[in-house]
Amino acid sequence: MHPWISERTEAFDSSGIRRVFDLAANLKDPINLSIGQPDFDVPDSIKSAAIGAIESGKNAYSPTQGVASLREALAKQVVQAYPNHQDRELFVCSGTSGGLVLAMLSMINPGDEVVFMDPYFVMYPSLVRMCGGVPVTVDCYPDFSIDPDRIAAAVTDKTKMILLNSPANPTGVTADREALEAVAKFAKQKEIALVSDEIYSSFFYDGEFVSPAEFNSDTIVIDGFSKSHAMTGWRVGYVHGPSEIISVMLKLQQYSFVCAPQPAQWGALEATKVDLSSHVNDYRQKRDFICAALSDHYEISKPNGAFYVYPKAPGDSGEKFVERAIAENLLIVPGNIFSSRDSHFRISFAASDETLQRGVEVLKRLARS
Ligand code: PMP
Repeated sequence: MHPWISERTEAFDSSGIRRVFDLAANLKDPINLSIGQPDFDVPDSIKSAAIGAIESGKNAYSPTQGVASLREALAKQVVQAYPNHQDRELFVCSGTSGGLVLAMLSMINPGDEVVFMDPYFVMYPSLVRMCGGVPVTVDCYPDFSIDPDRIAAAVTDKTKMILLNSPANPTGVTADREALEAVAKFAKQKEIALVSDEIYSSFFYDGEFVSPAEFNSDTIVIDGFSKSHAMTGWRVGYVHGPSEIISVMLKLQQYSFVCAPQPAQWGALEATKVDLSSHVNDYRQKRDFICAALSDHYEISKPNGAFYVYPKAPGDSGEKFVERAIAENLLIVPGNIFSSRDSHFRISFAASDETLQRGVEVLKRLARS
C-alpha cells in the first residue's frame, strides 16, 4: 500500500459495489432495475427556486446550520411531529450521507459497537469502521422485520449506538410500530444512542410512517430530499436530535462540509411545499405490479416502503443469479453487497412501467430455467 495512505482507510473496501458498477458499464442500454433514485425528475417549482437563488446571487456559504428559512420550515414540521420534545434542535447537512458521517464522527470512539440490521444500507459498516467502531449486525432474514429481542441480544457493554432504517434499503420493509416502540424504549433505558435513517419516510404505501423518535425523545433523526424529491445530486439533508449532540455535529460540519450547497437549500425550501402524493401513488402501483408479477416465481417479502424488492434468488447464490440476469441484459444488484448472506438480490422499481414490464419478463424466464 502507498505509504501516504492512512490505516483508517484499510478497515473497509468498496470492491463489491464497484464490481456492480463495472458490470453496469459494460452493458449497452440495459433493463436497469438497479438504481437507488426515483425515475421522475425534480419538480419544476424546485428547479425554479434553485435557479432563482443562483440568479439573485444566493451563491455564497450559508450559515453552517443552514439557510434560516429552510431550517425554520423544517423545524416547524418537527415541532408538529414531536410537540413534547423540549430539547430537539435541527440543522441542514450535505445529504443524508453527510448527516450519517457527522453522527458517526460525533459519537463513535474506537472500539464502540454499532448495532444495525442485516441486510443494511451499503454505507453503514464502512462508516462505522472509518471511525474505528465495530459493526454488529442483527440478522433479520427471512422476513426482514425488526425483532427487538434479537437487537437486545446483540447489545453488549460496548454498544454505543443502534442504527435503524425504516423503510429499509435494500428490502423496502417497514418496521411495525410495536417493534419500533420496543427498540426505542430499550435504547433509552440502556442509554444507547438511537439513530434513525428516515430517508425513505415519504415512500410509505400502506398505513402511516412511524419514527422511533415518537417513543424516545433522544432519537437522532436523519432525513433528506434525495429520494423524496429526486434531488440526489443536490446534496441536501437534515438532522434533528438532542441539542448537545447537534451542536457537536455542527462543529464537525463547520470544519468539513461547511454547509449544504446554498442554491440547493433554496430549492429544498420549495420542496417542503410540494405535494408528493401522486408520485407515492404511482410508486405504490409499481410495487403492486412487481409483487403480483413475481410472487408466484420468487420468495418475496412485500415491501411497504422505499422502492425496492428483495427476493430470494433461485439456486444457492444471489451473485451467480445476478450474473445470469446480466447475461440477459437485466441489471439488478446482488444481495451480498448489503449482507453477509449471498442468497438474495435487490430490484429497484423506481423505473418506467415499460422497463418494469421488460424486467419482469426476464425475471420470470430466469425463474423457470
Ligand atoms: N440512507 C439510505 C438508507 C440510503 O438508501 C441512501 C441513498 N441510497 C442514503 C442514506 C444516502 O442518501 P443521500 O443522497 O441523502 O446522501
